[in-house]
Amino acid sequence: MKFYDAHNHLQDEWLLPHLDRIASDLANACIAGAVVNGTTPDDWPQVSALATRFSWVIPSFGVHPWDCGNRPPDWLARLESRLAVEPRAHVGEIGLDRWMLDRAAPDDPRLAGLRRAPLAEQIEVFTAQLALASADNRAASIHCIDAWGALFDTLKDAVRPDRGFLLHAYSGPAEMIKPFAALGAYFSFNGSYLDSKRENQREVFRHVPADRLLVETDAPAMPLRSSWRLYDLPARPDTTTVNHPANITAVYAGLAQLLGQRSDQLAAQVEANFHRLFL
Ligand SMILES: [Zn+2]
Repeated sequence: MKFYDAHNHLQDEWLLPHLDRIASDLANACIAGAVVNGTTPDDWPQVSALATRFSWVIPSFGVHPWDCGNRPPDWLARLESRLAVEPRAHVGEIGLDRWMLDRAAPDDPRLAGLRRAPLAEQIEVFTAQLALASADNRAASIHCIDAWGALFDTLKDAVRPDRGFLLHAYSGPAEMIKPFAALGAYFSFNGSYLDSKRENQREVFRHVPADRLLVETDAPAMPLRSSWRLYDLPARPDTTTVNHPANITAVYAGLAQLLGQRSDQLAAQVEANFHRLFL
């Protein structure tokens, strides 16, 4: 079986020191493709370097909604020129996030030092990036938390990439799957949904059309609960668990169990979907 990670951040500073070990674990785990998402102009060179080094890395460049408020003034020109020299690259991670405005604690360590951009500003930055993706028919990898209505309205009125877009770690309602799919959405299942406390998020994936289903780690973020984890990395100083990208095999296993499918059947379907969207 070959495995495809539809969304991770291999360039992250918490993974880079362990890169040789991670790469050999991924090779043993039969990784065949991984979309590595930049989040700010500062990490795009590192994403490019990984794509040069590993044939299975598919680079993706974007400004994440958490990084939107601190983007440099020339960010859009830099994104255009980065994409111009990377014909295989996609656009992401981009998106909308109301959680950081409405629900996140003022001292949440994940948002430390970041200006939290209001939704209107996020929509402007998202729309500009979606337009770049659409112009070259690149896939857009989209993050959305607590902003499903705004995301749907924005996508509905925008020009979208013909090949489609990914709603990564989909956590929206089951009723929105059909309308999003009609706009071109794919939905990736994240390993953290295997946690017993996330049954609602997990069950929603029963409604995803088979030809729109993908699998992801979001590593080093969104770790699997320990009983599912196959690979570990040293925790961060604040004790946050660092998700090892090779846990993608465990995410496949958990999703196959949830859907009551044979692992090889699920893997073949995900392979076809991954190729259609990203290759
Ligand atoms: Zn991500």
